[in-house]
Amino acid sequence: MKRLIFLGPPGAGKGTQAQTLAQEWNIPHISTGDLLRQALKEQTPLGLKAQSYMDRGELVPDQLVQDMVEERLYQSDSHFGWILDGFPRTVKQAAFLEQLLQKLAQGSVKVINFDVPDDVVVARLLQRGRKDDSEQVIRRRLEVYRSETAPLIDFYGERHQLLTVNGNQSPEEVSAEIKKQVIAS
Ligand code: AMP
Repeated sequence: MKRLIFLGPPGAGKGTQAQTLAQEWNIPHISTGDLLRQALKEQTPLGLKAQSYMDRGELVPDQLVQDMVEERLYQSDSHFGWILDGFPRTVKQAAFLEQLLQKLAQGSVKVINFDVPDDVVVARLLQRGRKDDSEQVIRRRLEVYRSETAPLIDFYGERHQLLTVNGNQSPEEVSAEIKKQVIAS
């Protein structure tokens, strides 16, 4: 059973890897960023609430994202494994997820930490050209990553759930390294 959290700065390649590996393993790829962008496109109340945060590169309030993830993990296709991409992003979200998984009796969760130098991440994001990929917003998202999300490396390290991969390689090399680490863990 594969239950994996992909952790890393924006532009680390989490989305690309999650998409490829989820398909290969036939498990859902749960991206909170994708779910929020979909909600925004459909102009749902959640999407409308999230928009201003996303446009500024700030985090959407924990409660909104947590409710969204809880609902998604209760769906039947999530019972046999999943890849979480972009969640949790704060220690509060991580504590929430830990409780939720306990409630769902889902154990043996591993965290893949994507290690990528800052300059590589910025170059990749500038190339991607998404709406929230302007230079100013990118800078803010990296600051938010450092202050809010990077502490999760210690959070999961202390729990012996952390596996680190070198994200500064070709997509094929990164996939191979993730698979190797997951099998060995
Ligand atoms: P991403 O596609 O993962 O880069 O997410 C795009 C944007 O959605 C982020 O910059 C945040 O504004 C918001 N977002 C995605 N996931 C989360 C989360 N777990 N907590 C708070 N905000 C999030």
